Amino acid sequence: MLSSPGVKERLTVRLDPGIELLGVLDGPAPLPHPYAEAVDKAFAPFRDHPAFALNAEVAAEDPDGARRKDALLRRGAPPGLAFDETMGANRGEDERSGALEPWLSAARDFARASRFMDGFPARERLLDKEISELRARAKAAEHLAKLERYTGEAYVGRYDLVASPLCRDGGVLNRVWTRDDGSGLIVSLVKLEKARGGGTTFVDPDLDACVWHELAHGALDLTVNLYDHERQEVPLDLGPAISRNCRNWLHGLREHLVRAVMIRLVALDRGEKAAEQQYAEEGFSRKPHLKAFLELLEEYERSRKEFPTLSDFYPRLVAAFPKPAASPEVSAAGTLGLFHTPGQRAAALRRLDRLMIRSKDARLLARRAAILAAGASPAR
Ligand SMILES: [Zn+2]
Repeated sequence: MLSSPGVKERLTVRLDPGIELLGVLDGPAPLPHPYAEAVDKAFAPFRDHPAFALNAEVAAEDPDGARRKDALLRRGAPPGLAFDETMGANRGEDERSGALEPWLSAARDFARASRFMDGFPARERLLDKEISELRARAKAAEHLAKLERYTGEAYVGRYDLVASPLCRDGGVLNRVWTRDDGSGLIVSLVKLEKARGGGTTFVDPDLDACVWHELAHGALDLTVNLYDHERQEVPLDLGPAISRNCRNWLHGLREHLVRAVMIRLVALDRGEKAAEQQYAEEGFSRKPHLKAFLELLEEYERSRKEFPTLSDFYPRLVAAFPKPAASPEVSAAGTLGLFHTPGQRAAALRRLDRLMIRSKDARLLARRAAILAAGASPAR
C-alpha cells in the first residue's frame, strides 16, 4: 500500500484506549515491562474505585472478557465510550438490553476520576519499539495485497491490529464487522509476548495465519452469505471436534473456506512445507473437508482465466462440502436480517451483479429481488 497523503492506511497498528482501560480494571499486567510499571503507578491511587469491584463481578460471567471487549471495540475513547454510530447495524444484545450499562457507566466514571486519557500518549510511547516492530512486520508482509490478488476480491474497509499489552492468555479476540456504509471493519487483538532473543514483542509467529484468516472473512463472507445465507439454521454434523467450533452448516463452511485460503496463501508466500505445518496446526486438519478445499483451491489457482475471482469459483467448493441436512427456501426475511442498511444492501448488490455476469444460479436472482424489495420497503 502506498501511503500517499489522503489515502487512508487500510491496515493499522495501534493501542486502543478502551481495551487498555479494561486491562487496567482486570489487572495485573501479564508481563513485566516499563509500560506495565507506568500503568501500575498511574492507577494505584484509584484501586478502591467501585469500577474494580463491579468489573470483577462482570468478569465472573465473562471470564475471557469477550463481551466487554466487543462493547469497547465498537465505542469511542474513554471517558465518553460512546457507541460508534457508523456501526449501528452491529448493535448486539448487550446494546439493545443495556445489560452492560452499569459496567460502562462505572468505567466512564473511573476514566474521569483517574484522568485516564491524559497519560495515554505517554504510556503508548513506552511501547514505541514493539508497536513499530509490529507495524513494520505487517507492512512488509503485504497481507492485504496478497489476499486481494489471490481472491480477486477487494477488501473494502479497515483492519486494526490492536496491540494489547495487558491482554492475558486466552484473552485475544478477532472480529469481522460490516459497517452501516457496507465497508468492513476487522479487529484483531495482539498480545505482548516474550521475544525469542530477549525483550518483548507483539509479532506472533501466527500473525500471517491470523491476518489472512480474518481478511478472508472480510473479502469472502459476503459471497458465502449471498449464496447460502438461508443455511444459517441448518445443523452441521462433522463430529464433535469440529461441530463444537461451528455453530451451524454455514458457519462450518465459512471456517473451512477461510482456513483453506489462509493455508494456500502461506504456501504461496513461504512454501509448501510451511503450509503443511500450518495445516497440521489447524484444528480441522484431521477431517477430509479441509483437504478437499485445499486441492480445489490449487485447481482454482491454475484456472484464473475461467475464474477471475474466488467468488466465481465458490460453487465448486460448496459442492465438495457435506450436503446440508435440509435446504430451506430462500427467504426474503432472512435477507432482510442480513443487509440492514442502504450501504450494506448497496455493497451486496455490487457483488451480486458482478457474480451474475458469470453465474446463472437462481438463488442469486432471488437474493437480488429480496434485497431490492428490502430497500424499497419504507419500514426499513
Ligand atoms: Zn474464522
